[in-house]
Amino acid sequence: MPEQVKHDASLILDKIHPQDLPGLLDSINKSAATLSNWQYQYRVLNSTGGLTWLSGHAAPERMPDGSTLWHGYLEDITNTKQYYLELERVNKALKLSQERLDTASENALIGFWQASLDTGELWWSSVIYQIFGFEEATTTPSVALFKNAVHPDDRDMVIQSEKVAQETGLNDVVHRIIRPDGTIRWVHELARMLPVSDSAVATLIGSVQDVTERMQLQQLKSEFISTVSHELRTPLTSIKGALGLVNSGKLGQVPEKMFNLLTVAHSNSERLSHLIDDLLDIEKLAAGKMSFDLQVVSVQKELQHAIRNLQPYAKQFAVIMQLQLVPSALCIKADASRLQQVLTNLLSNAIKFSSHGATVTIGAKHEADKVNIEVTDNGLGIAPEFQPRVFERFAQADGSSSRQRGGTGLGLAICKELVEQMGGSIGFRSVLQQGSTFFVSLPLHQDSSGQLE
Ligand code: ADP
Repeated sequence: MPEQVKHDASLILDKIHPQDLPGLLDSINKSAATLSNWQYQYRVLNSTGGLTWLSGHAAPERMPDGSTLWHGYLEDITNTKQYYLELERVNKALKLSQERLDTASENALIGFWQASLDTGELWWSSVIYQIFGFEEATTTPSVALFKNAVHPDDRDMVIQSEKVAQETGLNDVVHRIIRPDGTIRWVHELARMLPVSDSAVATLIGSVQDVTERMQLQQLKSEFISTVSHELRTPLTSIKGALGLVNSGKLGQVPEKMFNLLTVAHSNSERLSHLIDDLLDIEKLAAGKMSFDLQVVSVQKELQHAIRNLQPYAKQFAVIMQLQLVPSALCIKADASRLQQVLTNLLSNAIKFSSHGATVTIGAKHEADKVNIEVTDNGLGIAPEFQPRVFERFAQADGSSSRQRGGTGLGLAICKELVEQMGGSIGFRSVLQQGSTFFVSLPLHQDSSGQLE
């Protein structure tokens, strides 16, 4: 009690937390001087050696002798106080992590948004206004506003990715936007539907990152590779031609020692020329500049053609190629020369990763509205840890052994792009030391299905 504290201070003062004592005494003196209600929260040492939070409330009354008497009560608020202190701590931590997130979001130019599919409401974080070039104070975000900002050439792509999102729950697309001042930016959108249990209404949450610099760099890199490759191709073609001519002996007998060196030079120039062709192809595919002439093509004829083309190569490795029975009426919709490029790559891989005397088989069968072409070898196989990277550019399982066998590590990356751009898919199964099967699935030409039953 305040009066106890004032008149019998020695009893209690010892128990009051030293940090709270000056403030407590001050509050009592103030209450006595101004006769205003006394109210204070402080800590005392309790009988178990712990601290108890007390909240004191009292009304002062001046006695005839000039002293002051307080009428009031003390309340144990330890639990409430601890609860508030914890809340304060959590709030501080939350504020700090929000600040960190805001800083990261501003530095990486990533904004967040949330859309309610039922009400059409859209919320943008501040960074999105910045990316899209709108004033936050005067702009109300809406789906229409966003769609209007999408670059006209990319609208179909955005619509397509929204369709995919409706089926899979995931939206992942990179496209351009035009800001109100006419400048063009590249953005990467990533979004997903919130699980129904987390939200009563259908809610889509997502992020938008400004990736303009990255895209400009990528474009610069592509242009650089393409220019360098084009510049290299012409002189290399003449070097390759000249070496081939000299080695053929048509210009006169080449001394044996010189012939060996020239053969190495010729084969290296061929390898270099292959690498340049692959680089040009991959850049063309990535830029969407590769044209496809989709025609009805006979699967049997294309497989026979690929086998014929690779016969000399198979001979080098003493590998036998076997064509499995394919119905002659089986036709697909594809670009014949691009298909040859894919088949040649799969067959040459199967050959070069087989042992001497082994057999590589190629066949095709139709399943529903697709035709599956399979190339199988019983060779080296692909290690499980390398399997996820097989279709990556420049990926080779074991640098040294792949180099011995030749190759650029670009072949399968090109095959994947080619097949996908022809509306198909590519995959494989493989067991190390037992062999691999690569399969390509392409759209069946519908008119041929009747004759296949
Ligand atoms: P490369 O020009 O090196 O053959 P690819 O992209 O065609 O490039 O193949 C990438 C890598 O995948 C190869 O270097 C090899 O490690 C592995 N690979 C591809 N096909 C086979 C196969 N049939 N058997 C074993 N490994 C294979």
